[in-house]
Amino acid sequence: MAIIGGGVAGLALAAELAELDGRLTEQADLPRPQLRIVLLERENQFAYHSTGRSIAALSETLGSPEQRALTRASRTILDALGAESGIPLLRTRPVVWVADEDNLGALNALLTASPALRGVDPAAAQTLCPALRPEATARAAVERTAQDVDVEALHQQYRDRATAAGVTLRTAIGLESGSWDDARGEWTLTTDRGELVAHRVVNAAGAWADAVAARLEVAPAGLINLRRTVAIAAAEGVGAAWPLVIDVGGRFYFRPERGGLLVSPADETPSPPTDAVAAQQDISVAVERVNAATSLRLDRVRTSWAGLRTFAPDRNPIVGPDPKQVGFFWFAGLGGTGIQTAPALARLAAAQLCSRPYEIPGLNPDALLPR
Ligand SMILES: Cc1cc2nc3c(=O)[nH]c(=O)nc-3n(C[C@H](O)[C@H](O)[C@H](O)COP(=O)(O)OP(=O)(O)OC[C@H]3O[C@@H](n4cnc5c(N)ncnc54)[C@H](O)[C@@H]3O)c2cc1C
Repeated sequence: MAIIGGGVAGLALAAELAELDGRLTEQADLPRPQLRIVLLERENQFAYHSTGRSIAALSETLGSPEQRALTRASRTILDALGAESGIPLLRTRPVVWVADEDNLGALNALLTASPALRGVDPAAAQTLCPALRPEATARAAVERTAQDVDVEALHQQYRDRATAAGVTLRTAIGLESGSWDDARGEWTLTTDRGELVAHRVVNAAGAWADAVAARLEVAPAGLINLRRTVAIAAAEGVGAAWPLVIDVGGRFYFRPERGGLLVSPADETPSPPTDAVAAQQDISVAVERVNAATSLRLDRVRTSWAGLRTFAPDRNPIVGPDPKQVGFFWFAGLGGTGIQTAPALARLAAAQLCSRPYEIPGLNPDALLPR
């Protein structure tokens, strides 16, 4: 089996699949060949693209009902992985959603959809984040149990587990093309470092997932890549324990970061799959909007970056076998919640690849199947 892509999706799946397959082999009454899994990553390092550019939040109030169910399940897994390894992967950082008068309806909808949220008045929001201007916030909602994820430790842990379970992890090798042989039931894959054969290809190529499908002559899923910009501004008096503050109207978010403030204009600019770069205009918009909502007066940006968030048309991840092409499995479209949903998604995909049941409370996995 060849997994294409060494972001959080591919790495989490490699670890979960190899471990599940190992357990099934041990438990089998009859001899059972163990899966040979190779993961191919085009870049010289893992997690170079979206995974290395996230803001590392875990919030049960973000995304669709499916993404919320996946986040709740992933949180339990992340807690357990942290406890097992002795390296905690989560650290509490509340989320405060803020709404101006125009977005009160959206805030109410969020409160109705999210049991983890409590509505509060602007003064209570200001207690959590003293820089919030009360006159810029009509109402707010607090998710006290939201978390920061240690993304670096997470993908390192998946890499270690995958390697220990026998996966071959390769960097600096890109899939170029491939053809399926029906009679032999296998792919011949051409990479920029030679050929290999695989009975199954798992497409975990993030922003390039449709391009990878096209290289294997599989119909695309209609994925859209949206660029998101992040900057870290110098700021005085920022408390390390301040929450992640998100505008319900989708105009900005910010949180403390290394003595400064991490800000984003929450942009969604369509982009081809590429090594995304922050545009000066988007950075300026972020600073302007955060200055309007706070008393901070940010004026100097220390560093900035951008990354792509890849969405299917319904904005849910795509997990499952391609409906037309045998031997091709989708694990893509993780959108803006890939860090916080990958742990549960990887267990679900591993179970599907091993034809085993796996239940995630509140999730109908059919909603994620490729169409
Ligand atoms: C600014 C920003 C903030 C975010 N914040 C959060 C957050 O707070 N919480 C959260 O849960 N999520 C967040 N996300 C989303 C999250 O980062 C993504 O959903 C997740 O990283 C997607 O992981 P992936 O493995 O699918 O993609 P990627 O990490 O992009 O990995 C795909 C890999 O496939 C490789 N590849 C592509 N084509 C080929 C090929 N032909 N051959 C070999 N390899 C190939 C690429 O090089 C790449 O490394 C954020 C994203 C951005 C951009």
